[in-house]
Amino acid sequence: MNSVTQSLLGGVEAGGTKFVLAVGHSPTEIVAQHEIPTRDPDTTLAQACEWLEHQGAIRAIGIASFGPVELDRSSPLWGHITNTPKLGWTNCDVAGYFAERFKVPIGFDTDVNGAALAEYSHGAGQTAASLAYITVGTGIGGGLVLGGKAVHGAAHPEMGHIFPRRHPRDPHFEGICPHHGDCLEGLASGPAIKARWGKSLSELPTDHVAHEIIADYLAQLALSLIAMTSVEIIVLGGGVMKTEGLLGRVRQRTSELGAGYFPGGLKHKIVAPGFGGHAGLAGALMLAFFQ
Ligand code: ZN
Repeated sequence: MNSVTQSLLGGVEAGGTKFVLAVGHSPTEIVAQHEIPTRDPDTTLAQACEWLEHQGAIRAIGIASFGPVELDRSSPLWGHITNTPKLGWTNCDVAGYFAERFKVPIGFDTDVNGAALAEYSHGAGQTAASLAYITVGTGIGGGLVLGGKAVHGAAHPEMGHIFPRRHPRDPHFEGICPHHGDCLEGLASGPAIKARWGKSLSELPTDHVAHEIIADYLAQLALSLIAMTSVEIIVLGGGVMKTEGLLGRVRQRTSELGAGYFPGGLKHKIVAPGFGGHAGLAGALMLAFFQ
């Protein structure tokens, strides 16, 4: 078990409600997997490490984390969750905790960048040179991979916090983003849907106007991504995207919004995750693999 070839990659998908852990020989060959609820940092990180330690020799760990996070390797705050509203987690040194405990290389990125990398290399994007992964769930976030690298820039993308044009049948809802009110996340995330209509999108009848409104907002993000980056594949994942028919509605609305402008119609693809609900975990293992 001690040789490099036999030792394992560790993956940590650090989410706001649960941590999903895995060890594998490669990002697609998972040997064991485990979930723990996200509590306070000390309890959660200790439990995560304990499980990983019991799986055998680990040669690198990848962490795909909820954010915001610091990704600048030259910053003393690299690997930290920064100013999250999640109680107790602000300025938590997640990467440092695992580095200290395991003394192995640590890969660290956002959950959506991890998922984007996994979809790009092994999932929905295997034939493309560019791919965006969007999650629509408790929040809305996105990662963009161009030429095999996740785009970071000065920080990481915050695709959920763009400002869509208001749908004419949704003029009054003030939105729930604590920073912006009616940004995309404030209008179209799972909690925004519940705040507006009292139910999740999949619980509302298919002829309810909510389906049209949410598809319109998500299509605006898709079209913005296409207009700004011409990304070839947009993967839409997350709990809200499990709503029956929503992917098709977003596709259709994106085409309508781009109609007449893109010659020959949109060549860009809008698809479901190749990894289903496991893109984040596969992404964490990818981040370990790259170490
Ligand atoms: Zn916002």
